Amino acid sequence: MAIQEYKCPNCSGAVSFDSGAQKMKCPYCDAEFEIGALQNYQKEVAEQKEDVYGWEKYGVDGLGTEELDALASNSCPSCGAEIIGDKNTVATVCPYCGNTQIVQERVKDMLKPDFVIPFKLDKKAAKAALEKFQQGKKLLPSLFKSESRMDSITALYVPFWLFDAGANAQIRYKATKTRVWSDSNYNYTKTKFYSVVRNGTLAFQKVPVDGSEKMDDIYMDSIEPFNYNEMVPFNTAYLSGYLAEKFDVNAEAAMPRANERIKETIEAEFRRTVTGYQTVTKENASVQVPKGNVHYALFPVWMLNTKYQGQIYTFAMNGQTGKLIGKLPMDKGKYKKYLFGITAVAGCILTLVLTLLKNVI
Ligand SMILES: [Zn+2]
Ligand SMILES: [Zn+2]
Repeated sequence: MAIQEYKCPNCSGAVSFDSGAQKMKCPYCDAEFEIGALQNYQKEVAEQKEDVYGWEKYGVDGLGTEELDALASNSCPSCGAEIIGDKNTVATVCPYCGNTQIVQERVKDMLKPDFVIPFKLDKKAAKAALEKFQQGKKLLPSLFKSESRMDSITALYVPFWLFDAGANAQIRYKATKTRVWSDSNYNYTKTKFYSVVRNGTLAFQKVPVDGSEKMDDIYMDSIEPFNYNEMVPFNTAYLSGYLAEKFDVNAEAAMPRANERIKETIEAEFRRTVTGYQTVTKENASVQVPKGNVHYALFPVWMLNTKYQGQIYTFAMNGQTGKLIGKLPMDKGKYKKYLFGITAVAGCILTLVLTLLKNVI
């Protein structure tokens, strides 16, 4: 019979039986373990599972000829964005790069979205949101604020992949409780090591991942969440008067981001249940999605572009909730004035710069 070798969970050294303590003892770090606890721990480590994400095939229906005939494709030769709209809605400016040389042609094929969240906010609301966003930004160049500089405001349906799944997960943590005491001669520290295991299932509904290469992921993450209660089955009628980007990140390519979001959420939820220890370190986490579904949807986003000193500044607003994100230019002259004029209140400057940074992303 082969003799099983036990490794110290604390320092990975080889552990042996200590007859005096009647326990397993690590000669390297002096940690002691109950035999049963060590065996269980070793078993858990050996049995830990790999991550598995089993996404089912998603909708493969294309739009019918009649539906395609009512649409036109507006392509941007500069950045490659393909924007779809009804025949009467022509994109004049590319919402991503600001290029005006848009080429319009027939739509050859398009995967039919499963769902759409219709626009709720109009152009006026988008302008107002941007004005509010700029308010109080003291380092913003004065010229930038004038409304006439807004080069384009586009109502754009952005393609999203929505992932539904029931996920099983096992997470193992290393945790410690430490007690310190002393007598007249020595200080003592006793650290107890725990292997904490959490097993569970979490249901995920419509985890969104955008299907647009050109759309900055940070922008899209920032204007979330969208209210799914207002999501309806797709109909081309929703496109009239609006533009929609054709996805250039397919469902397969979007899966790693969905997996990551699911795993991060599980880790955060499970971690909240591990309490009462001084230190907690995640040792291993594995997630299994036996069977998940993927849907294709269009979400409403107002894209605002403005050119300032030869550079394009893009803002994105959630067309349903009004949440806005974007980068603002900084007036270097004003910034210097702040730095040199009020050096005495350095704390204030720091706060101001920090506020500005917070608004940048
Ligand atoms: Zn050890
Ligand atoms: Zn473009």
